[in-house]
Amino acid sequence: MSGSEPYAGLGQVAEARAAHVSSQALVASGQSHAPLVLACKHCDTLHVDVEVEPGGMALCDCCGYVLRRRSRFTLSFWSALTAAALIVFGIANLFPLVELSLLGKTVSTNFVGALWTTWASGHFLLSAMTGMVGFWFPLTQLCFLFWALGCLRRGDLPHDFRAAMRIYHFVGPWSMVPVLMLAIIVSIVKFAGMANLDPGTGVWAFCVLTFMLTALSRLDAERMWQLAEERGLVILSRDSGLPAERMAACHACGYVQPWDPEVGPCACERCGMTVRKRHEDMSSRVWALLIAAAVVYIPANVLPMMEIRTLLGNSAHTILGGVIELWQLGSWDLAIIVFVASVVVPITKLVALTVLMCARKWKGNRSQRQRTRLYELVEYIGQWSMLDVFVVVLMAAMANFPGVSQIIAGPAAASFGMVVVLTMLAAMSYDPRTGWDRQPRTPSDEIDER
Ligand SMILES: [Zn+2]
Ligand SMILES: [Zn+2]
Repeated sequence: MSGSEPYAGLGQVAEARAAHVSSQALVASGQSHAPLVLACKHCDTLHVDVEVEPGGMALCDCCGYVLRRRSRFTLSFWSALTAAALIVFGIANLFPLVELSLLGKTVSTNFVGALWTTWASGHFLLSAMTGMVGFWFPLTQLCFLFWALGCLRRGDLPHDFRAAMRIYHFVGPWSMVPVLMLAIIVSIVKFAGMANLDPGTGVWAFCVLTFMLTALSRLDAERMWQLAEERGLVILSRDSGLPAERMAACHACGYVQPWDPEVGPCACERCGMTVRKRHEDMSSRVWALLIAAAVVYIPANVLPMMEIRTLLGNSAHTILGGVIELWQLGSWDLAIIVFVASVVVPITKLVALTVLMCARKWKGNRSQRQRTRLYELVEYIGQWSMLDVFVVVLMAAMANFPGVSQIIAGPAAASFGMVVVLTMLAAMSYDPRTGWDRQPRTPSDEIDER
């Protein structure tokens, strides 16, 4: 299977199952010869698993979600890339981002230093939040990935692999180095006209790291389990003959297993993660998080994002004030980027999630697929609104000239960070499979048009 060919649903290809099932995988597993199956994360349709050629991918024929993607690169390549990314991560965080000179004084800072400055100035929540998503989670992600790839290359999975992949699955969406990189560029542009500024080694390292982490984001936890499957190291999802209502897929590893509606959530037989047929209390959880995010969004916009103290006096500006300032500096392109990330993205997320929650009774394959696309958009744009929060932390550390010129993080920065966290949690609590439950899952010709 190559290109973006859709998968056939389990119901439609009963007689063709045996031909589609990968014979290699069956031999490798040494398990029963029942067909291999996989479930779509977005619509929960069960599919017969088939071999995907290197560089190819397969789509769900019901909702169009990418079910399986196979890379052309080998494990050795990914290991080498991860090792290189770890080294570049060290350089990016240890070497200075910029050197700023003002009235004979020079300040040089790196991202870790910026976090410390924010902490020392009493903004504990802001420092902890940006430290987690900009430093600790990317570092954890790289360390676990490097270790797990080593295990896969050796062909020996220790018991800890399960726990490591559960943590890896958790930290993935919260690792925000590309957003941090964009924030570094915005901060440099904001200072460029005000003081002598020299970009340091850290900036170039962050540039390279962004590309490396974007490439490595292909290796999510589910893909790691698929790599283990391809090497015959783990049990494979097999058609147990049970109806689809009594089968459930693990969200972290993709393993499809028998599920008893009377028992409810259970531990995944393969990775140990809690398996749920549908997210429980989804409605109340998503609404609670959405309302909290909408409430916190008010101070995030009304209160000052940062305060600027100079010899000439003090000033403070809000998110929109920051956008206007960038525009006046002549950087209309960055002003648009910050406006989109800080204003358009959070509002889009809030509105889109509200629409998804209100429109659960939409009928028809077409509207369900539009819902799936909308949810994919919310997931995709999720972390980009963290941009302005990073900008505040970086600028406060860069312009640290006490008595001459100082930038202090305002109360809106932590509020805005909370909006990002709450909307991301709301998106994660939303279960796209529920919309498809009200109608038969039928394949559609429209998928080929994507
Ligand atoms: Zn699907
Ligand atoms: Zn699992």
